[in-house]
Order: sequence, then structure tokens, then C-alpha cells
Amino acid sequence: MPINPSIFNFQNSYLDLPSIFWTKTDLIGAKKPQLFLLNEDFGKSLEIDIANLQLLTSILSGNKIDQKSIPFAQAYAGHQFGHFTMLGDGRAILLGEHTTKNGQRFDIQLKGGGQTAYSRRGDGKATLKAMLREYLFSEALFHLNIPTSRSLAVMKTGEPVYRESIQEGAILTRVMKSHLRVGTFQFAHQFGTFDELKALTNYTIQRHFPEIKNEENLALVLFKKVMIAQISLITHWMRVGFIHGVMNTDNTSISGETFDYGPCAFMNQYNPETVFSSIDTQGRYAFENQPNIIKWNMIRLAESLLPLFHADQNQAIELAKEEINQFDILWNESYLEMMLNKIGIKNPIENDHLLFNELLSLMKTYQLDYTNTFLSLSKEIEALKIPLELNQWKEKWQKRTENETNLLELMKQNNPVFILRANLVEEALDKAIESDFTKFNRLLEVVRNPYLYEVKNQDYLFPPDKKFNQNYQTFCGT
Ligand code: AMP
Ligand code: MG
Repeated sequence: MPINPSIFNFQNSYLDLPSIFWTKTDLIGAKKPQLFLLNEDFGKSLEIDIANLQLLTSILSGNKIDQKSIPFAQAYAGHQFGHFTMLGDGRAILLGEHTTKNGQRFDIQLKGGGQTAYSRRGDGKATLKAMLREYLFSEALFHLNIPTSRSLAVMKTGEPVYRESIQEGAILTRVMKSHLRVGTFQFAHQFGTFDELKALTNYTIQRHFPEIKNEENLALVLFKKVMIAQISLITHWMRVGFIHGVMNTDNTSISGETFDYGPCAFMNQYNPETVFSSIDTQGRYAFENQPNIIKWNMIRLAESLLPLFHADQNQAIELAKEEINQFDILWNESYLEMMLNKIGIKNPIENDHLLFNELLSLMKTYQLDYTNTFLSLSKEIEALKIPLELNQWKEKWQKRTENETNLLELMKQNNPVFILRANLVEEALDKAIESDFTKFNRLLEVVRNPYLYEVKNQDYLFPPDKKFNQNYQTFCGT
């Protein structure tokens, strides 16, 4: 046993940034911490000592400070539903950057860890149900091969959290390549100096895109990199029918990882206008709007970087426009390639996009399930037959793909069998908060292997009835 046992191998490079970007924070510590859920496999992959449960519990409940940890909260701003505001980590405290032997760096953050300098009127807390929800969704996306923050543990605090009802409090340990976001750059641009914006840009490049460090116009190449990473990420969301629900600029990561799991959900019956979030009354973050919104968010990033693009503002704007004009081209390429892969087409020819669009419009007209329609085309799952409404389309598609050599494999790679259906999520969470993990664990097991069909998991295949779907609502930041 080392004299000073520690769980993580912390570094604190973020604190080398100018001090406007952070505020050191005292941890209050949960009164009666109980390790409720531990992601053991993930912990092992991080090379942390998960066997020392007592120490792990103390650290992840904010009761003990790990060696070399200097807890702090990050400053950031952001557009929430289109309105610019100063934000910052109001209920998240960063313990440090855990570094693995091969040099990978991960932020270790306590979400729901108590108030910080940026809490405004919030209590800095999180509910058990919301943190278990984030755990489920982040695991599901990870195993769907989609970049995402991950969840190492859920700790019960033993303290009440006051929302519409009194709920149990919890702390989630969120792990991410970094928590740098579009809103961090907006904050630097709005409230910082030129040098502070430059320091943030250099830091970001060193941390996420070291390969571009010798480029002439660093900020411009950084912008391009982030745009490409986000296009790739949103393409994946569209691939699996994921609706993030709150794509504010503070929830758009620079590393291209999905994060901030609040009101997210997977779509069942295909309707491009699907919105589940109770507060998204205008449908700003509807399924089909996600690409438009990410473009909008990228324009906010470009605006924030303008002073670095060029000393002359007009020239800076010209450079920004040139990059942003690439968005639609890159998006269409990325999206179309993915969607054609979903129907088994590797090498597109003219009019393939029409074939795909026709499928979408049939799915919409007949309210077909998004996930299962793609699955039914491959005929591998006996329980899923191609809907009769697709008969004519099927003939065209079969003719078009008869010479595709990699058809089934391509479809299998890109079409999940098991997504986190909302009805199953709700059932599992309602039981789990009462400490009955049977459904939660089964659901986790299924979504951790989302591309493999097994008959024993057949119950997880089908969508809830249409009435459930129509009435289903999700909620933010609880
Ligand atoms: P989100 O909707 O999770 O992206 O949060 C938006 C902003 O509200 C962020 O600055 C959060 O830190 C803050 N926030 C959310 N919930 C709380 C809370 N319970 N206490 C303090 N700040 C919060
Ligand atoms: Mg957020």
C-alpha cells in the first residue's frame, strides 16, 4: 500500500489557463455517501484502482481530496435556445485530469457535487433519477460507437433534493476528453482579452488537435477541425435516431463528444419533427433540425474566434465565411454517405439520394419505426418483417443493391438492433431509484451490445405503442 493512497493520476493543466477561465472550489462532501453504481469495466480501462471502494467512495462523494487534485469549476457562456447568457459549471466540479500510461487525458468531474461560484440561484445538486438516466444514455451511445462523455459512478448523497417533488440526491462522475465547449470560446470572446482568447485556443489545440500546431492560421484550422468533428457526431445521432434535446452552445463540445444528457431520447416512429423535451416548445432541437443547429452553433464558434482569424475584421469575416460555406457541402457528404450505408450502399451513384429520401417519406407517411425499418431490410431478424407499405420501394432497392458486395455487413455495422426505448428507460429508472436494479441491469446489458440480435432480448426490440410515444416528455437539468 502506498503511504498516500490515490485513485487517480491527476494533472491540472486547465489551471495553467488565465484565471478568468476557472474558479477553485471547496468540496462540501455528501453527508451519507453510498456508492450506488460503479462502471467497473470503464474504471479498469482508465487504469484506476477500483478495488479500493472506500477511498473511491470518499473521493467521488467529495469527502476526500485525491492526491494532486485541485477542484475547480469552469467558466463559460452560451446561447440557450438562442439567447446569450453567462453560465459556468453551476453544479459540476472538476477534480482534475486523469492521465493514463499511454498519455490519454480525461476530465474527472463530479456532476451534482454542490454549489460553485457559477451556481447563480441553483442548488448545485442533481437527482438520483437524472444521474441514472445519464449513466444509461452515455453507456448506450458509447456502445453504439458514438463519441460521448462517460459515466464512472453514481453516488447517492443521502440528502434530499428539492424539485417539483422531494427527491434523492446523487453525484455522477462524468468523464470526458475535456469539457471545453463552444460556450468556453464565447465566454473568452465576450469577457476576456485577446491574449486570453489566444491562450484558450492554444490550449485547446495542444489538448485535442496537436497535429495542427504548426499550421499558419491556428484558429482557422481549429475551427475547421471542430466543425468536422461535430458533423461526424451529428451524423451518428441521425444514424441511430438520437435526439439530444438541448443543443445549446454550452452543450456543444470542442472534442466532438456527446454530452449533457438532459432531455435526450431516441426516436421511435419516424417523424422528422419529433421533439420530446417539455421546454422545447418551438421544436428548435427537433430531430431534423439537429444539423441546422450544429451549423448555427459553429457560426457562434467562428464569431468567437474572429479576432484570431485575422487582425483586420473584414478579412477575418471573409475567412470565417469561407469556412462556414463549407458546412453544407461537408454535411451533405457525411450524411448521405451514412444514410446510404444504412441501406447497404457503399459506392453511391446518381439518384441514390432520391431512393433514400423515398424511404424516409414512406416511413413518415406510415409512421414506421425508424430503427426497425432499417433492420427489417436485412431479413436477419425473423420477428421483423419488411412492412407491406415498403413493397414497391423494396423492389427498387433490391434491384439497385443486387451487385453490392458488402451489403449485409455494411447494414449491420450502421443499423443498431437495440436502442434505449423511452418506455424501457422509464420503467428501469422507476425501479432503480427504489434500489431494484433488475430491469436497469438487464437494459444496460442489452444496450451494451446493440448490434447483436439475440432471441432472448426480443422484448427490447419493439417500440412502445403510439400513444405512449405521442405523450412522452423529457425534462432538462433535474
Ligand atoms: P444544462 O441545461 O445542464 O446545460 O445547464 C445550464 C446551466 O445551468 C449550466 O451553467 C449549469 O451549470 C446550470 N445548472 C443546471 N442545474 C443546476 C443546479 N441544480 N444548480 C446550479 N446550476 C445549475
Ligand atoms: Mg450544460
